[in-house]
Amino acid sequence: MRILVSNDDGYFSEGLAALVDALTPLGEVTVVAPDMERSGASNSLTLDRPLTMRRAPNGFYRINGTPTDCVHMAVTGLLKWQPDMVVSGVNHGANMGDDTLYSGTVAAATEGYLLGIPSLAISLAYGAEGGASERERSQSLYFSTAARVAADLVKRWQHRPFVGPSLINVNVPDRPYEALGGLKVTRLGRRHKAEPVIQATNPRGETVYWVGPAGPVADAGEGTDFHAVAAGWVSLTPLQVDLTHYPQMDALNSWVSS
Ligand code: MN
Repeated sequence: MRILVSNDDGYFSEGLAALVDALTPLGEVTVVAPDMERSGASNSLTLDRPLTMRRAPNGFYRINGTPTDCVHMAVTGLLKWQPDMVVSGVNHGANMGDDTLYSGTVAAATEGYLLGIPSLAISLAYGAEGGASERERSQSLYFSTAARVAADLVKRWQHRPFVGPSLINVNVPDRPYEALGGLKVTRLGRRHKAEPVIQATNPRGETVYWVGPAGPVADAGEGTDFHAVAAGWVSLTPLQVDLTHYPQMDALNSWVSS
């Protein structure tokens, strides 16, 4: 089995190394990842400049582009073979609810899915809602737990492939593997709108702005990814890409024709 691995935290990240370690016994693993952190890159492609691919000393390929660039380039020409699976992660932080729209981790997997390859996005959800306080950032995280879950899912796939095109968003609680509650299939929850933009002054006295943190959880009810992870379960959400709001088509039709 040939597995293409990517992420959005960069080719040097701890979560990526843990994922590669866990997947290597299962097949031929090739890493094509961004050369810097591109969290929040969503499904963007770089169209205004050429991209370069370099090989890091550990054998990972790094590209000066987005997670989507990496998977797109790898599958559409850089690799001499078609991957059997794309695995993205392990992301440093949760990708639940609305996060999935902004996430580069999910985007790398989505690109695999759009190119017809079964794909998994794996994120390590730490903190109450996957947010990062200073304390949480400074403590060591259980990337190996999430990597082992990814390997479990790939193994399950090898024995019995899931039927149909698949894009699975996986969030793993930050705890020892033995302390996980098991696998739970979920729907995406929802967050409140994001926190306000943060204003600061740069060393030249100019006002600069930081995009604020994601909003707190708005829908974390039973059945959601937030709910499962908070209860210690591994959350698996099957995703699709069609954004059409089907129930609203009739209403829009009458609005434009009246
Ligand atoms: Mn990230």
